[in-house]
Amino acid sequence: MQSPTADPLDLVREDLREFAGYRSARSERLDGGIWLNANESPWCNPSDPDARLRRYPDPQPEALRALLSDMYRCRPGELLAGRGSDEGIDLLVRALCRPGQDAVLVTSPTFGMYAISARLHGARVVDVPLHDTPQGFQCDFDAVADAAEANAVKLVFLCSPGNPSGTLLPIESIAALAQRLEGRAVVVVDEAYLDYAQAPSATSLLDMQRNIAVLRTLSKAHALAAARIGAVIADAGLIAVLQRCQAPYPLPGPCVELAVAALAQPVRAGSAAHIQTTLDERERLHAMLASSPLVRCAYPSRANFVLARLKEPQDAFDRLLAAGIVVRDLRSSERLGDALRISVGTPEQNRAVAAVLGSDGVSA
Ligand SMILES: *Cc1c(COP(=O)(O)O)cnc(C)c1O
Repeated sequence: MQSPTADPLDLVREDLREFAGYRSARSERLDGGIWLNANESPWCNPSDPDARLRRYPDPQPEALRALLSDMYRCRPGELLAGRGSDEGIDLLVRALCRPGQDAVLVTSPTFGMYAISARLHGARVVDVPLHDTPQGFQCDFDAVADAAEANAVKLVFLCSPGNPSGTLLPIESIAALAQRLEGRAVVVVDEAYLDYAQAPSATSLLDMQRNIAVLRTLSKAHALAAARIGAVIADAGLIAVLQRCQAPYPLPGPCVELAVAALAQPVRAGSAAHIQTTLDERERLHAMLASSPLVRCAYPSRANFVLARLKEPQDAFDRLLAAGIVVRDLRSSERLGDALRISVGTPEQNRAVAAVLGSDGVSA
């Protein structure tokens, strides 16, 4: 189906558009019974009697790609699996930004990897800070579009729900931004926490607006952070370019096996039950913090954490630590000098947090 909007391939670095990337022994698509083309050992490692590890893995295993694209509601060719969404961020920066010339745009406070990938690649970082309002942090989409147009921005990184803000961005505003920046920039929507928001994914915009890329991950709601599996979902042509920029064998075989097992229907039902518990617990944690005399402000959250400003942040951090509870200290970030980000734990873990920070903890 031909989409109406400009081809996002025109935004890829000109020197990479025809770039073929590394041709691994795996990419030749030959057939045979005796495989002597990749310098692998003909014997298994003694620790690997089932021969799961002897050969190089498939760069993009079809079973994994099929399960992920089914879950994220896109076509398999519109999805690239990689080593966490961190790799997706890095591939996008490298494929689109000319070092020393192009820029990425971020909306602080936000996930640190966007700026780190940009910096490692020699791309400028333009910041359009979120507005801090009583309803939570809000994105100024007009200011983002103006700054993108003025600064040779190739990638706009939006995080929805935001880390650490917890704010879900309106999907209509994302669509309008992508439309305005068509032919200029790709709008990247990092949906690492969307499983906790019960809201539509920006992948639903792809058929209308091709300059959108969505990042998803199995690291959070699927509880597979150590497997390092994430996905970029975007226009099929752009995905093909990103794949050519990717390392030759990006996905370790055992990690793929784990991910495929975790995406089977009955297992997903178990993950869904945990998500539901997290949502209930998140509201409880937020209410506890909002009513705590130690807390200046607890932001509403659509993710699996709550961001709170404390009256005595060092004291609160120390008291949590003394109780064996480690939370994320955000005080090194410019505008969150008094803030902590607390992940939603099990009901029991959240009660332990409440015992330290809740009104009961204060009077105790
Ligand atoms: C945790 C997180 C990720 C996940 O990164 P992975 O590399 O997939 O583990 C991505 N984006 C944001 C905003 C995150 O908080």
